[in-house]
Amino acid sequence: MSAGGRSVKKKEAKKEAARVGATLIEMAVATAPTDLDLAKAQASLARKVMLKFNVRYDWSLRRFFCHGCKGLIFPGINARVRLGPGKMLLVTCAECSYVNRKKLSKSRLNIQR
Ligand SMILES: [Zn+2]
Repeated sequence: MSAGGRSVKKKEAKKEAARVGATLIEMAVATAPTDLDLAKAQASLARKVMLKFNVRYDWSLRRFFCHGCKGLIFPGINARVRLGPGKMLLVTCAECSYVNRKKLSKSRLNIQR
């Protein structure tokens, strides 16, 4: 048995962490074209926050992380985006050459809504 009240605080902390993490990813994405090293640092910080507070984001934010090296991947800078067979989006990481695959369903083709 644990003392009550802590779970509420933890929930608040997670909410805050989710906001900070999302902001960090957005900052990293905005910084990437001008300063990739800084953007990578921001992205790794965001990842630390995500891991610590067990925060998950949907694909719109997760797609900026490489599944292979867990680093920031930015299309056109250190990642190559290609369409594969069967409506498959292939994002190749230039850092570790891991190919991140994403199956596109008809409803998810509108990436930017
Ligand atoms: Zn990678």
